[in-house]
Amino acid sequence: MKACVIGAGVGGLATASLLVKNGWSVDVYEKEELLGGRALSCKIQEGYENLLKKFEMKIVATSPDLQQIYDLAADYKVDLGFHLIGGGKKGACVRLLRQFGIELNFVGSRLGFIGDKIDYPILKAKDKFAILPRILQLLFTRKSKIEEMKKISMEEMIKKYGRGKLKLILELFPRLITTVNDLSRISAGETFFAQRELLGGDPVVYPYGGLNSIAEAMAEYIEKNGGRIYLGQKVNKIIIEDGVAKGIKIKRKEKEYDVIIFTLPIQHIFTIADEKEFPEEWVEYVKNLKPTGSLISYHALNKLNKNLLNKSFVFIERNVDFEGNDVVGMIDFKMSHESSVTPRGKYLVQSYAICTPEEAKKRKKAMELKKIIEKNLEKLIPDYEKHMEWNIHAAIWHLDGVAKTIDNEKPDVVTPIKNLYIAGDCVASKGVGVNCAADSANLIAERLI
Ligand SMILES: Cc1cc2nc3c(=O)[nH]c(=O)nc-3n(C[C@H](O)[C@H](O)[C@H](O)COP(=O)(O)OP(=O)(O)OC[C@H]3O[C@@H](n4cnc5c(N)ncnc54)[C@H](O)[C@@H]3O)c2cc1C
Repeated sequence: MKACVIGAGVGGLATASLLVKNGWSVDVYEKEELLGGRALSCKIQEGYENLLKKFEMKIVATSPDLQQIYDLAADYKVDLGFHLIGGGKKGACVRLLRQFGIELNFVGSRLGFIGDKIDYPILKAKDKFAILPRILQLLFTRKSKIEEMKKISMEEMIKKYGRGKLKLILELFPRLITTVNDLSRISAGETFFAQRELLGGDPVVYPYGGLNSIAEAMAEYIEKNGGRIYLGQKVNKIIIEDGVAKGIKIKRKEKEYDVIIFTLPIQHIFTIADEKEFPEEWVEYVKNLKPTGSLISYHALNKLNKNLLNKSFVFIERNVDFEGNDVVGMIDFKMSHESSVTPRGKYLVQSYAICTPEEAKKRKKAMELKKIIEKNLEKLIPDYEKHMEWNIHAAIWHLDGVAKTIDNEKPDVVTPIKNLYIAGDCVASKGVGVNCAADSANLIAERLI
């Protein structure tokens, strides 16, 4: 069987890896010259702003100006923005890599909380002990009950169970997991299970050598197993005849395939597939799926307290004028010379603050988020400005392909068109972000192999 994968992000590469592992002939087409999609790593140089734009991101502030940062940051390697992988070794991405015999090294840590004082880790042994009975109860819950719970919001759940530390945990983690601030939109069923992963050793990890080491390792696996990856090759059209996907068109060339796997953000499917070929309800449903947004910040420091190195901290800014009334975010210290992404003696602090895609598009809102991030960074490092060499703040309105919320049900990997499948972080697989994109490959493999 011959498959074509459109897009070399985590979803596309994971799917291609599983297919070649099972003896399929696979061609991957990627429009950029870089592997990794939204999980790519790059240099901050001429063309950086343009690259961000291609992934629905916009720089809202820098200091000094970007031209000067090109010189200051010449020896840095960065990702498109804040990127940590949830669940550590238990997360879908790391588990899938292990299936291919790929063992990458990760810097992992627990999570601290920036409150009136700094609380690291936020979940102490005694807290886990207090929360555990609730988690165990959920683990043994019947499947029908879990389905029911998916319709209950975290807001209701907090009213029922939220006391003391558990209340704070329930207010924070579901928002961090979904990149959505509004607790009334977050499903209790979905997030409780994701929270189990946060109870383990390293709830958040970052790969040594930068995020692109994940894409590069998978690409090497694909090519070693007979697959082909074509960079700089934009697919212009998916050829569909009588409800069946037959092939693709690149420039003027047509190529036939048995199966086509689409991995772009799902809302963009009709840019390369004729919407008239799909049932009207599906077209309407897909066009209305909402992604998630954030403000992403980098602060490059030339000094860092060793106590902070490799750790991550979360914050909650209450009663602010954003959907959900609170803004939740994270500040992370895993990008350093040790993780091979900065020059010796330099540290890159990566942070994000959650907002809706609409809020991310408004400069005023993005600047308010910048203030929130920097206020919390100051609580961790009161004199951070003294050691700061440069900073960049970018808004993103397509962070997670489809928000995992009650009102926004993620689509299945199977489309109404025969032989056309979707993979990536838009589909209803386990986890969110990178994990969701990686796990979508398992769902495709279940259907095809
Ligand atoms: C700034 C930012 C921060 C994030 N932070 C986190 C985080 O902390 N943790 C986490 O888990 N997730 C995070 N995410 C989300 C995570 O990066 C994505 O969920 C994941 O990378 C999506 O992978 P994908 O394969 O589904 O899609 P993509 O990576 O978008 O892959 C689609 C690919 O298709 C290519 N393409 C598009 N059009 C065409 C065409 N016509 N022909 C050929 N190729 C085409 C694109 O160039 C792209 O490479 C973040 C995302 C961003 C942008």
